[in-house]
Amino acid sequence: MTLGSFAYEGGILCAGGVPLAPLAERYGTPLYVYDFDAIAARYEAFSRALGDQPHRICYAVKANSNLALLARLARLGSGFDIVSGGELARVLAAGGDPAKIVFSGVGKSTAELKAALDANIGCFNVESEPELWRLAALAEAAGVEAPVSLRVNPDVDPKTHPYISTGLKDNKFGLAVDQAAALYPRLAAHPGLRPVGIDFHIGSQLTTLEPFIDALRRVLALVDQLEADGLTLSHIDVGGGLGVRYDDEAPPSAAAYAAGLKGALQGRPQTLVLEPGRWLVAESGALLTTVEYEKHHEGKRFLIVDAAMTELLRPALYDAWHPIVPLTEPAADAEGTPADVVGPVCESSDVLGRDRPLAVGEGDGLAILGAGAYGFGMASNYNTRNRPAEVLLEAGQAHLVRRRERYEDQFALESLALPGGE
Ligand SMILES: *Cc1c(COP(=O)(O)O)cnc(C)c1O
Repeated sequence: MTLGSFAYEGGILCAGGVPLAPLAERYGTPLYVYDFDAIAARYEAFSRALGDQPHRICYAVKANSNLALLARLARLGSGFDIVSGGELARVLAAGGDPAKIVFSGVGKSTAELKAALDANIGCFNVESEPELWRLAALAEAAGVEAPVSLRVNPDVDPKTHPYISTGLKDNKFGLAVDQAAALYPRLAAHPGLRPVGIDFHIGSQLTTLEPFIDALRRVLALVDQLEADGLTLSHIDVGGGLGVRYDDEAPPSAAAYAAGLKGALQGRPQTLVLEPGRWLVAESGALLTTVEYEKHHEGKRFLIVDAAMTELLRPALYDAWHPIVPLTEPAADAEGTPADVVGPVCESSDVLGRDRPLAVGEGDGLAILGAGAYGFGMASNYNTRNRPAEVLLEAGQAHLVRRRERYEDQFALESLALPGGE
């Protein structure tokens, strides 16, 4: 199967009409390729689906934080959901509008809070009472008012992988609804804080609408209660989490998701803030790799490729399934013996796909699809592997937006520190 804008044209795998094999040749593999036109089309479609509901799309930077991608999303008018000081620096470096930044995360450090106050970001999505009072003290000392949203944990089961589920009461994210209800009047009274919104994020890769709508209804009940007590919020942030297709999932369309949210909002005037990450970028990215060896062992076939868990961690971390397809379309009747596609890293979990009937061998190119989100961002230097290059396609042009790392890049931060040495 192929995905999104990755499709065979005349037997050659292309993205947005650009053939991928020459990119693998030119830049080497492993190589990430993103089709920005497809990402932009999704952004516009999402915004259109929300229509007349006042809204702001704040792209979740952690899904894919390449500067060239952020700069282009900023130009489309996107806001950004960040989870660290590093992501703040990235958004600013890419020309993002600070007023459209929301800052999520359970463990914001003092330095990160200060940097975000200095940058004048749009909203702090506060996840605990101690964080709230630390932010209050920092803002007051700086003589400013920090715009605050409380992240509530609506305690709904998103029915996704436990590692990417965040909205149940036994995990570390957010505040219980009653706790938030009690905190809003207290924060409203503090000179260093200004209540502007409420937020939740219940998990990732959700493939049904109900958990989103259940969560929103619970949060709206609190919004209404606060309003009755004279506290009005200007935005409601429903987080990210909309799922995509990797295999046979059938996630709701952006239109259905938008319609569901609007239905629950019933014409409330607040700005609807959304934090999509995966939905915007996953299907528009692929990891290109080359088969190094084909190996047969105890009746099992292995394709050992030059990409690994260091480039794409999702299969090892979440047991995630990604389509793996040859760069040259196989004949209709060509089916190889099922093979495990594995990387060279010294870990048994370094598997990119199991039992794939791929009719390829040594030297052939493959594309691992659906790799635009949580791909490069989770890459590591384990086994002293250089992180891969990234290419962004736009209007038929290929731009190298991150060169392949070199060993010198990796060593630059280290010191031999030998006794008596230089
Ligand atoms: C990770 C995250 C997102 C994005 O999630 P996706 O599943 O990629 O859409 C949005 N908001 C918060 C707070 C997150 O932690």
